Amino acid sequence: MSSPDPNTPSAGGIKRAREDQSTGSEALESLHRKKRFSQDRPRRDHEFWFDDGSIALVAKDVEFRVYKRVLSEHSVVFADMLSFPQPSSQQPTSIPQDCPIVHLDDSPEDLRHIFRAIFPRKGATFIPLELGDPTFDMVSAYARLGHKYQIDDLLDQSLRWLKTQFTTNFNTWIKQGLYPFHDEAEYAIGVVNIARLTQCHTILPTAMMICCSLPGETLVRGFERPDGSLEKLGEDDLILCIAKKTALTGATVTSLLSAFDPDDDGFHAVGDSDCIQGLLRLLHQYRRDPGLIVGNSPFPSVDYYFDDYDHMAVCEDCAHHLHSRLREEQEMLWCRLPEIFGLGRIEGWPVGPA
Ligand SMILES: [Zn+2]
Repeated sequence: MSSPDPNTPSAGGIKRAREDQSTGSEALESLHRKKRFSQDRPRRDHEFWFDDGSIALVAKDVEFRVYKRVLSEHSVVFADMLSFPQPSSQQPTSIPQDCPIVHLDDSPEDLRHIFRAIFPRKGATFIPLELGDPTFDMVSAYARLGHKYQIDDLLDQSLRWLKTQFTTNFNTWIKQGLYPFHDEAEYAIGVVNIARLTQCHTILPTAMMICCSLPGETLVRGFERPDGSLEKLGEDDLILCIAKKTALTGATVTSLLSAFDPDDDGFHAVGDSDCIQGLLRLLHQYRRDPGLIVGNSPFPSVDYYFDDYDHMAVCEDCAHHLHSRLREEQEMLWCRLPEIFGLGRIEGWPVGPA
């Protein structure tokens, strides 16, 4: 519960004032005028203002008018909150006197995602997350507001979807190819935050692994949400990612080199063939592409280690064995991810060979 954020409209106000090419003092006065106007007169939401709505919700500078009974049915928190008499607004508003007003400290963008799910409208089909291709903002709003207001159905949908994408299963992860949310890696920061908020630990190892692949600036500064606020890692998780990045890189390199074991009986030994020499020649070629050894992901497709390289240096049988060994090593590394990040035992996460 809070009054509208006075900082939000000011950024736009400055930009518009500059475009007007006003003098300094005129621009400043114009800015104050626009700021006052924006603070004083919240605007009705274009999507969720029902004329017969029974409760007005004000978030920042946006007014929603929706149905109290429906909100209460979906959320015990709203039910409790709305069971008390609501004070009338102290600010000028176009909301009718007989419609109680509640101020929320959520972003209007987040609330719209929630309202689209619980207030059916003509011409708008609600698609559960599992059946659609949701954006991060939608999944995040369901998780955060679902948790805050105990809208269990939306929270459960969100966590179910995240668990399928940030899976505990190595083969499922490999088959996905891209990172979740169309390879927009920075959203992993938000997923770590959701995991911490909701105690949904199974999505943490993969989300933290993706965070470790982010450029330093993105990892530290986070990314901008639609309302202009920044989604950043908590300080402890930021420290964890920075501290564990080296451990993850080391484990990835160890995993790769372990597959090229010259004493492995699966490779033709010197005398039968020169496949061991061929193996070393293949490994030597990777110097041209360091990203293949310590790339963004510890789990690239195994085919990358053969494509564009002279894998004919080894016979077909040895190439096949190497392929299997690389995959085995990746799978063992996968099993160790929670341990590498110091996350302890995570329910459902596979345990590797002792
Ligand atoms: Zn061979």
